[in-house]
Amino acid sequence: MKRTKIVVTIGPACRSRKLINQLVKSGMNCARLNFSHGSYAEHRQMYQAIRAAGKKYNEPVLIMQDLQGPKFRLGEVVGAVVLRAGKKVVLGFVAAGDHETIPIDFFGIGKCLRVGERILIDDGKISLKITKVLKDKISATVVEGGLLRPRAGVNLPDSRLDMSVLTAKDKRDLEFGIKLGVDIIALSFVHCAADIKQARILISKFEKKYHKIRGGEIGIIAKIENQSAVSKAEEILAVADGIMVARGDMGVELPAAQVPIIQKRLIDFCNAAAKPVIVATQMLDSMQEHMHPTRAEVSDIANAVIDHTDAVMLSNETAVGKYPALSVRTMAEIIKVTEDSGYDDLPDFTVRKKGTAVDSAIVELSRLLADRVEAKVILAASLTGETGRMISHLRPEMPILVATHDIRIQRQLNLSWGVRPFILPVCKSIEELVKKSMQYIKKEKLAVKGDKMIVVAGEPVGEAGHVNLVEVREVI
Ligand code: PEP
Repeated sequence: MKRTKIVVTIGPACRSRKLINQLVKSGMNCARLNFSHGSYAEHRQMYQAIRAAGKKYNEPVLIMQDLQGPKFRLGEVVGAVVLRAGKKVVLGFVAAGDHETIPIDFFGIGKCLRVGERILIDDGKISLKITKVLKDKISATVVEGGLLRPRAGVNLPDSRLDMSVLTAKDKRDLEFGIKLGVDIIALSFVHCAADIKQARILISKFEKKYHKIRGGEIGIIAKIENQSAVSKAEEILAVADGIMVARGDMGVELPAAQVPIIQKRLIDFCNAAAKPVIVATQMLDSMQEHMHPTRAEVSDIANAVIDHTDAVMLSNETAVGKYPALSVRTMAEIIKVTEDSGYDDLPDFTVRKKGTAVDSAIVELSRLLADRVEAKVILAASLTGETGRMISHLRPEMPILVATHDIRIQRQLNLSWGVRPFILPVCKSIEELVKKSMQYIKKEKLAVKGDKMIVVAGEPVGEAGHVNLVEVREVI
C-alpha cells in the first residue's frame, strides 16, 4: 500500500465515469478541479462522478477546487501566429476582430505595467520586453519567439500589481464550488497571509449560505508560485491549511534553478507545522504523449517522496494527456518502490509543531511505542484531523488509522501521508473506540488477532481538545 498521496487534475481527457473509476482504482486520493478551464456543467458532472467512484471503491477522495487567481491569459489568437525574436508587437484588452493586437484578458494593462518589464507567455517559452505603455495597450519587443497558443498563460514577474488574490471570476467560482460541496480550495498567486484570511471570510460566508449543517471547515491550500509567497511562506502557512509547491509558475516567476531548493524548504515548513504539502507540475509531463516516463521524471517523483512530501500531483498528464489512468498507475508504482527502499524514512521523529507539550509528547510517544513493540497499526481518534496530521508527519512505518465522525474531515485527512481515515460516530469511551475500530481493521485486513496496535486519543472521547492518552493494545 502506498503512503504518499496522489492528486489528479481532472480535465477533458478523463471526462467519463469509466475513466474516473479507473483513476480511483489506480491510486487517486484527491481530485483537482481546475477552474482555469472548463464550464460549470463539466465541473458538476465530474464532481458527481468522483463522489460516486469514491463510494464504489471505498476511497475518501478529496475534491480540491483550484481557483485561477489573478493570472492573465491570452485571448483567442486567430490563426497560427509565430513571433520572431526582434519583432515589435502590441498587446491589449481588445475586442474580437482586432488582428493587429495580441489579445490579453487584462483590463487596464497600460495602467499597471512599466517600460523595461518582462512579459512571459506560455510558461516562459515566449518572452517580451515592454518598450511603450499606452492607455489600454502596450508595445513590446520579442526577446524569445515562438508560436502563440490561444489562452496561453501570461506571467509578469517584474510588475508590481496591486490586485486582490480573488478576482471577480474566482468569487463566482468559489460560490459555485462551495454550493457543489468541495472539500478544499487551492488559492493561486497568494502573496501574503492576508490573502488567505480574506479568502477564509468569503468561504465562511458561502458555507453559511449553502450548508446549514456544517461539518469540518473547508480547508485552504496556498499555492506558492511567486517571489513574494516564497519569502513569506511561513507566515502564509501559519494561516493556511497546507501548501502546494506550484512549480509551473514558480519556475517562470523565479529562476527555475531555485525551484528544487524551494521545494525542499516548503516541504520542511509543512512538516514542521504538521500541515499537508503537495508537489505539483510536470511530474510525468512526457506521459501526455507517451506510455513511459523519462528517467528524470521518475527521479523527480522519487525525490519528492524522499523530501517527505505528503502528496504529488498530476496536471496535464491526466487533464489533457493520452494516458490518464496509466499516468496515475505509473506514479503509484514509483511511490511504492521509493517508499519500500527506506530512503524516505524519517530517522528523527521529534514533533516540530509548536503546540501544547502534551499533544506533541503523546504523538511522539506513539511512534516510539509503535516501533518498539512492532505494532501493526496506529489508531487515532481525531475530531478535527489535527492528531492524524501530527502522527502523519512522524512517518511511522505502519498505517495510521484515523477515526473521525465527519466526512469532510475524513476526506481532508486523505491528503496527509500514510493516513487511512475512516468514519466512526463519536465514541463515549476509549473502549468503545477500540471495539468499533476493530471492525474496520479486520475488514481492511490491516492486522490479525494478537497483533499489537497503538491507540492515540483524548479523554473524555468526543470532546474537541488535546490528545492525552497513548496505549499499547492487542488486536482481539
Ligand atoms: C503551477 O503553476 O505549478 C500550478 C499548479 O498552477 P496552475 O493552476 O497554473 O496549473
